Amino acid sequence: MKLDLLAIGVHPDDVELSCSGTIINEVKRGKKAGIIDLTQGELGTRGTIQTRYAEAAKAAEILGVSVRENLKMRDGFFRNDEEHQLQLIQAIRTYQPEVVLANALQDRHPDHGRAGHLIATACFLSGLAKIETKDKNGQPQAKWRPKYILHYLQDWYHEPDLLIDISDVFEQRMEAVKAYTTQFFNQESGHEGPQTYISTPDFLDSVVGRARMMGKRIGVKYAEGFISEKKIGIRNLDALLLVET
Ligand SMILES: [Zn+2]
Repeated sequence: MKLDLLAIGVHPDDVELSCSGTIINEVKRGKKAGIIDLTQGELGTRGTIQTRYAEAAKAAEILGVSVRENLKMRDGFFRNDEEHQLQLIQAIRTYQPEVVLANALQDRHPDHGRAGHLIATACFLSGLAKIETKDKNGQPQAKWRPKYILHYLQDWYHEPDLLIDISDVFEQRMEAVKAYTTQFFNQESGHEGPQTYISTPDFLDSVVGRARMMGKRIGVKYAEGFISEKKIGIRNLDALLLVET
């Protein structure tokens, strides 16, 4: 299945928290998007593997993605090595995305930075014909290199290279985040469990505040920020948001 956009996150919910507005935007424009979770988030303090699968499926439905796959790498202990790169290359060649949204290259959780580098490495190596991989049916795969890797911002603030207006889809984006009822504060779910860094109302407030702050930089209500190691090219000035700031 060929995708236009593939969002990759190391923990189920990374994508929702950081770049789901951009995914909804693209799906609404008729683009085909998918999500790959690298791990099952099995080290998370709250919830179980089963509850996280159910939550991830619910969020995927809200976002309107065509596919969501879990590569079942080991939460906390996966490495950016040949074995994991080949596993990811196989997935990239299966979905042939033009653009990949990836974890931040440096963040509070060490998994995020390690995943950000693993994804960038795999995207590059996936374009080398002499690296041979097979699809799930044992057929050889063609090389494929995504044109852009955009690293979304997670816990730590980094100065973004690109800001995308998500004002029109912000409510839907927060619905997708709140699908993770065991992870985040949700008055209706009444989920009990030990409080964590991300389960307080304050954390969700900070998610909204971040989007608001990004939006302010480009003169809209809400935005998501991305870092690109490659320079971003646009076809013409129509791509610019013409808002006086
Ligand atoms: Zn995470």
